[in-house]
Amino acid sequence: MKAIRGMNDILPEEIGKWHFVEDTTRRIFDLYGFAELRSPILERTELFLRGIGEDTDVVEKQMYTFSDKSGASITLRPEATASVLRAVIEHGLLGKDPIQKLYSIGPMFRYERPQKGRYRQFHQINVERLGEEGPYCDAETLAMAYELATALDLNNVSLEINSLGCASCRKVFMQQLQSFLEHKQAVLCEDCSRRMHTNPLRVLDCKTDTCQQVVADAPSIEDFLCDDCRGHYHCVLEGLKSLQVPYTKNARLVRGLDYYTRTTFELTASGLGSQNAIAGGGRYDGLISTLGGPDVPGIGFAFGIERIIMLLEDRTEDVKGCYVVIHGDERLQHEALKLLSDLRSANLRAEAVLEKSFKAQMKRAGRSEYPVCAIIGEDELARGVVTLKDLRTSFQTQAPRNEVAKKVYSLLEEQGGYS
Ligand code: AMP
Repeated sequence: MKAIRGMNDILPEEIGKWHFVEDTTRRIFDLYGFAELRSPILERTELFLRGIGEDTDVVEKQMYTFSDKSGASITLRPEATASVLRAVIEHGLLGKDPIQKLYSIGPMFRYERPQKGRYRQFHQINVERLGEEGPYCDAETLAMAYELATALDLNNVSLEINSLGCASCRKVFMQQLQSFLEHKQAVLCEDCSRRMHTNPLRVLDCKTDTCQQVVADAPSIEDFLCDDCRGHYHCVLEGLKSLQVPYTKNARLVRGLDYYTRTTFELTASGLGSQNAIAGGGRYDGLISTLGGPDVPGIGFAFGIERIIMLLEDRTEDVKGCYVVIHGDERLQHEALKLLSDLRSANLRAEAVLEKSFKAQMKRAGRSEYPVCAIIGEDELARGVVTLKDLRTSFQTQAPRNEVAKKVYSLLEEQGGYS
């Protein structure tokens, strides 16, 4: 039996990196006053149809949609925003506090062609910030994303930013873009020659070579922004400068989901090949009301965890603990069990495999990552002591039975780095 294509196991050898990413995320987001919200992985299909937009690749091609036993259409969440907003509306969170700063971490599902950096089950760190419409909220939210990328030690992270304007200035731009594209329809890819009528913005985002060549000469959204949107964009950029976050403007950046207004952005990192986007997001001022909630503005972003993991060095942490070995008959097993329990009570990791021969136990200790092993033999038992062997240096010493944990700590400290 094998895992489903595009869905990966995360094995113990890799989990240190995942913990590092998750712990760093929680630490940074806590500094900005964000709280975690966990929503279910399954939602009614309709939520995503309304929340993401029917003309998007995600909804058109990538959703895992099933009928459950009652015949209801349900979907494995392809992104988190719609679910988080549904939860916010359902629980009236904005009534309790009109400003909500939320994050979530978890798996998402998209039926895409699997390749390096692109999977069918993947994980996102997701942020939603609701209730603030000013540009400094955008600048600070983007700075938080950038700070997370920096704290994760990612190299050459760059931030590209654009403004998609509001419904009214974007409408004018879309008309211009559409009439520009009409003359080029023959060379557009199949998707774009259809999308140019339903959602011409998406053509800007198409990765096909011919479409990219076409859009190189297309009108630029920046020339169509109304005064309010232009002012907002300017202040976001000024805010980023104050926060010392470097950025590049990219007027072609529209991103895959329909709901964005004004600020959109993407973070890329080097070392990932063609799938080099590690995070993306933007402002979505109309989305909460589209989903049946109050007319409250919002901004959010999502990082793809697998792509971050691909960039991280192996993280092996020093084991703070002691391997326990017995040398003698079964009576010693009880002593070993008590010692294991005492060591754990003293906050030290402790393990043993007591049924094996002394030689096999020592071999396992030597192969383990434990820096120290404790040996209990007949002689030790009679004298109320335990032999401690530093497995890094082979140095041996003895400690009274009731001071073993203390002695293990001092051996760990001798090699430095443990606390
Ligand atoms: P999106 O939700 O499409 O805006 O994507 C946000 C981030 O999630 C991207 O920048 C990627 O890092 C990551 N991502 C999106 N789709 C996938 C996928 N199929 N496999 C792995 N990571 C993905």
